Amino acid sequence: MIDTKSETQAYSGLLPEDAKCLQCNYPLRGLPEINCPECGLPFDPGNPTSYHTPTLRSWLIRYGQPPGKRWIGVLLAAVLFFLASLSDPFLEPPVCIWTAALSFLLVLLALDWSLRLAIRIFLGGGSKAHQRHRWLWAPLMFAFIATPFLYPWPAYLRFQLNKPDFENAIQNIATLQTKTPIRVGSYMIRSTSVQSDGSIFLSVYTDRARAHGFWYIPTNPDTLQSNCIIEHRLNANWYIGGKLHFN
Ligand SMILES: [Zn+2]
Repeated sequence: MIDTKSETQAYSGLLPEDAKCLQCNYPLRGLPEINCPECGLPFDPGNPTSYHTPTLRSWLIRYGQPPGKRWIGVLLAAVLFFLASLSDPFLEPPVCIWTAALSFLLVLLALDWSLRLAIRIFLGGGSKAHQRHRWLWAPLMFAFIATPFLYPWPAYLRFQLNKPDFENAIQNIATLQTKTPIRVGSYMIRSTSVQSDGSIFLSVYTDRARAHGFWYIPTNPDTLQSNCIIEHRLNANWYIGGKLHFN
């Protein structure tokens, strides 16, 4: 005769010491059955996803802590590089392997942050009061990197720092007329063109539809050429803008 009762008991003895019912938290080890006596939910000692152990719970609670210093360091560095990549004049955000990689990293950080917060809310577990400010870094930084899409201030800032170089460059129309890239301050100007009305376009990068860069327009911008796009005024005669590929 096989004693099925003690066999099941031996089987559920394979459970970790602290195994609990998924549904009602009832301790399951050493039970003479494979259903929770409290709520009836079946469990399988061979399948760790059919019960939970406080070790998993405590691991989750540990995970649900505000991000650490290193995490915040990575976030700040990613934000800095992201803003720097947006300091080129843009009508649409420039797409290159760097901005794609940075965007991917920022998305991962946002997901990690949301997951931590969700665990913190649903499983509880206190964080030390002096660490609570660490929750704030991510939302603040994500709001911050959205601002250049309202006004391209990184490009504005960088332009201001390089303005003397731009002023010098347009004094020298002859070198401007070349098609070879020239360095103007911290910008690499891919090509330049002088329009019949005396406006000068300095192209920083091009995509399929148009070139993106800076316009120097000495006259009233009401008299714009048809291929000229003005997006943001920088100051005096300088604008962030683009130029359509037809002439
Ligand atoms: Zn149960």
